[in-house]
Amino acid sequence: MENCIFCKIAAGEIPSATLYEDEDFRVILDLGPATKGHALILPKQHAANLLEMPDELAGKAIVVAKKMAGKMKEVLGCDGLNLVQNNGEAAGQTVHHFHIHLIPRYEGDHAGVSWTPGKLTDEVRDEILKKFA
Ligand code: 5GP
Ligand code: ZN
Repeated sequence: MENCIFCKIAAGEIPSATLYEDEDFRVILDLGPATKGHALILPKQHAANLLEMPDELAGKAIVVAKKMAGKMKEVLGCDGLNLVQNNGEAAGQTVHHFHIHLIPRYEGDHAGVSWTPGKLTDEVRDEILKKFA
């Protein structure tokens, strides 16, 4: 993809703070971190979002996330870690090249990775179950 910034970063055409690289992925530090060590897993092959990711590559992305999670715990000393993966503008996606956020969490940090819980009513539960049946 010609004008995709993450394609250029993943390919090494634009320099980035790279924590890990293999033949399929580059993992970089996010320029606007939610917490110390917030990183992004970028596939080298362009896909706009999860639905466009080939199955095999999507699977490999989670394996990279697992590897990075262990490394982050070890070297950053984080107490937890959120994986965040936004798809579509409605979901907050701003860069339309698939990426997984790795957000190390520290006891007492105030990173806003949360939502206000609603209430699952019987009516909505049944409506949705019917659609998935
Ligand atoms: P999204 O909202 O699409 O899920 O996340 C995009 C993320 O990419 C944001 O957290 C933003 O800070 C980060 N970002 C945007 N442009 C760049 C860039 O050029 N370099 C790096 N390292 N991060 C970027
Ligand atoms: Zn791209």
